[in-house]
Amino acid sequence: MSDDTMSNNGPGDIDPKTEAVLARYRSYLQDDVDPREWPYAWRTEINRGGFRAVDFLMDEIVDTGKCIGCASCLTICPADVFDYADEKPVNARPEACVFCVLCVEVCPVLRPVDDNARTRARFRAPAKDDGYGFYSYGVYARATDPELVTRGQDGGMTSALLIHGLETGRLGGAVLGDVFPDAKQIGRHRLAMNRQDVLECAASRYTYSPNTLALQEAMRQDVKPLAVVGVPCQIDGVWLQQTSSIQLEMSQWYKENIALTVGLFCSESFTHESIERLAEIVEVEPHRIDNINIKGKVVVRLDDGEVLTTSLRKYREWARPACLYCLDYGAENADIGAGGIGMDDWTMTVIRTDAGHEAFQAAIDDGKIETRPLEDEPKGEFLANKLSMDKRKNRPLPAQMPTYQERLALDYLDPKTFYTKGPGAPAVEAAPEGDKK
Ligand SMILES: Cc1cc2nc3c(=O)[nH]c(=O)nc-3n(C[C@H](O)[C@H](O)[C@H](O)COP(=O)(O)OP(=O)(O)OC[C@H]3O[C@@H](n4cnc5c(N)ncnc54)[C@H](O)[C@@H]3O)c2cc1C
Ligand code: SF4
Ligand code: SF4
Repeated sequence: MSDDTMSNNGPGDIDPKTEAVLARYRSYLQDDVDPREWPYAWRTEINRGGFRAVDFLMDEIVDTGKCIGCASCLTICPADVFDYADEKPVNARPEACVFCVLCVEVCPVLRPVDDNARTRARFRAPAKDDGYGFYSYGVYARATDPELVTRGQDGGMTSALLIHGLETGRLGGAVLGDVFPDAKQIGRHRLAMNRQDVLECAASRYTYSPNTLALQEAMRQDVKPLAVVGVPCQIDGVWLQQTSSIQLEMSQWYKENIALTVGLFCSESFTHESIERLAEIVEVEPHRIDNINIKGKVVVRLDDGEVLTTSLRKYREWARPACLYCLDYGAENADIGAGGIGMDDWTMTVIRTDAGHEAFQAAIDDGKIETRPLEDEPKGEFLANKLSMDKRKNRPLPAQMPTYQERLALDYLDPKTFYTKGPGAPAVEAAPEGDKK
């Protein structure tokens, strides 16, 4: 963690009201209060004139290293208090804060996404849950345009859906992940407006890409209706933005103008350093890596088309520590979930909501996407269930997990195994004396 991240609030910066909110929130955690009640830790302060919520967010989430970098707080802030650096929000202009508490309302680490009637009502009926979130139906899908299959990560379904939306006027723009021209595996945000933009963003980068930063540009230019593509933590943040009970212009904009969210299945993302380490493992220069895909093993495609593979176990050593604080594999709050498991060159696609169904069916009806039943390769459903369970196994809610500093002291930063084989794993009871051989 950088020193910058550690000094968002200097000593003495926290006012007594913020201290009171912190104390209340921490007492809720300690007393095992129902997580649905946690927001009252800060909401009760609103009627007393409010408080500078950014200080609370920095102290509880960012300075503890629990921030996953989704940027929800930053993109909903009406006062432009935050900057973003090193995959984290920075408390750049605290004096501009207008005490609206939107930033804490939308942080998916501070509290779980509400599992209330409103959240459930959005799922297309009849909705079922096979372990990776409520959905209406699932298929393997791919673009019918061969260029999209080639340039897409799996079946190019996501890009085909977006291009169809943009070309038919169902969408005005899409918030996506792009790459730096001189570092093809490092993600950055982009507001895509046409086919060419979408094509340039196609395929996956396994480093963290702060896609949702492009929401600010979309709002400034009033680009709508808008699609958002992101990993599950980003989609969770967007869903909290769309459903915020605080009626301000910013939250209203999210409610009215985000028409479609496509969530990418995700076990974890990786540090920037991982790209150099991977290049060392497969013995090539980092800039020669054209694409990385994970199919039980790490599949590396080079700029001349050569394909190399290596063990996922080794690569996982460079998983982002912050991924411990995300329990969502299937992007359970997205309109559509999409993953590469099950079958090569097809995208496993789960349609969760009416908005997802309408966009997906329109692209099928216009011949832009073709599908196959999930039963063609049952491995997909099995793996989606297993990987979802793995991401939750033994894990308490992020707010109740150890901080980054505590994990550092334990010398155990691996998010994947912390709660299965690491210090968070349940203690194995010693066998009774008589049972020992
Ligand atoms: C970090 C990461 C981890 C993943 N882990 C899994 C997994 O464990 N299991 C699984 O089944 N699938 C996983 N996926 C999803 C998979 O790689 C494909 O994105 C998905 O199958 C859609 O394929 P497609 O061909 O339809 O997408 P495409 O048509 O290629 O479109 C992909 C879209 O993803 C966006 N994107 C690219 N990189 C990122 C990024 N780093 N963050 C956010 N958005 C990005 C692009 O903007 C593009 O619009 C992961 C994806 C990412 C980015
Ligand atoms: S979202 Fe509201 S409370 Fe949070 S920093 Fe911005 S103005 Fe302050
Ligand atoms: S997890 Fe998201 S909302 Fe919470 S502090 Fe980090 S960037 Fe902000």
